[in-house]
Amino acid sequence: MAKKIVRDVNVEGKTVLVRVDFNVPMKDGVITDDNRIVQALPTIKDVVERKAKVVLFSHLGRVKTEEDKAGKSLRPVSEKLAEYLGQEVTFVPFTRGQELETAIKALNEGEVLMFENTRFEDVDGKKESKNDPELGKYWASLGDVFVNDAFGTAHRSHASNVGIASNIGEVAAGYLLEKEIKFIGGAVDEPERPFVAILGGAKVGDKIGVITNLLEKADKILIVGGMSYNFLKTQGYEIGTSICENDKLDLAKELLQQADGKLELPLDLKVTKEFSNDADARYASFDDIKADEMGLDIGPKTLEKYEAILKDAKTVVWNGPAGVFEFPNFAHGTIGICKTLADLDATTIIGGGDSAAAAISLGYASKFTHISTGGGASLEYLEGKTLPGVACVDEL
Ligand code: ADP
Ligand code: MG
Repeated sequence: MAKKIVRDVNVEGKTVLVRVDFNVPMKDGVITDDNRIVQALPTIKDVVERKAKVVLFSHLGRVKTEEDKAGKSLRPVSEKLAEYLGQEVTFVPFTRGQELETAIKALNEGEVLMFENTRFEDVDGKKESKNDPELGKYWASLGDVFVNDAFGTAHRSHASNVGIASNIGEVAAGYLLEKEIKFIGGAVDEPERPFVAILGGAKVGDKIGVITNLLEKADKILIVGGMSYNFLKTQGYEIGTSICENDKLDLAKELLQQADGKLELPLDLKVTKEFSNDADARYASFDDIKADEMGLDIGPKTLEKYEAILKDAKTVVWNGPAGVFEFPNFAHGTIGICKTLADLDATTIIGGGDSAAAAISLGYASKFTHISTGGGASLEYLEGKTLPGVACVDEL
């Protein structure tokens, strides 16, 4: 099913509401990583050039109380955006009301306005996050067309995506959302094969369910990182003090039984007695971890085995670092995966926040076909779930 994309919409002279993902990391009011602003530019520039009156909005962090609002204003983001656009961005420090409505009415073609953090509405009964029907309807009343370009919240039904979409005449996806659908949706629905998934990281409980869907879609699933130990433990191996979610041991066992040879586990691990970069470490076979040791990385035999499998892959989705890459002594596995993927003649996709940060900090970002802007959303996509923020976009 093809979705309507912003390019398919005649926006000239119309008030276009664009839900972007400006949930950028900030420290003391300063943006520490503006990647999400940069990623939103193609859609914004396009509607500006085509003479829309542009109204932007986003959430920023979590806001539950009045106190939470401190440091969560989008004003600094509007200033950064103005620099990137080379034009003024009118900032309205409210999420509703007369001043906002008047400012929107005063917009000329090609002008840009941004209003305050949508989650400020959460202070009063979670109106944004619980998709309060009044709020979605109100925001929808402010414009003619809705463009959803926020992939990071596409797995949630909020007033600022689904709420608006169900109350406005025309709904399109922005270019960032289009890209995410193309790469992540494409990998899951019609991958060029062999399709190999690499799963690791620390959020084992959140991720282990993804394997159920990937067992149907992928040709191989390579387990790395903290994900490894649930599978080793459920087979009766000692995992010492390694990360493990004990309530997911039965699920791990079931998955191994269903796996039909598709699930690959590490052969060796880098183990240590303390969670520290500088503690003594050794490589241990998967069946030789001592009770007082924890595995913090995969070992060279594992990398060799995984490289051999990845060599022929045509589509690779990677979610979750292979080890505690923040410690240089336990980053070898993650570096090894980056290097292997960098050299492949394949579509390579990263779908996790920390995995993306790892690839960027290790200098491999440009080697990947696509780095997703939504960790949780990409995970739910890989699980085979329908994303409300995608489903609410008009079909072509
Ligand atoms: P992503 O954000 O890419 O989805 P996660 O949030 O699930 O990944 O996990 C990232 C974290 O996992 C990293 O901070 C990394 O240090 C940690 N990690 C990886 N391997 C291990 C391990 N063996 N033991 C403990 N933590 C690990
Ligand atoms: Mg993470």
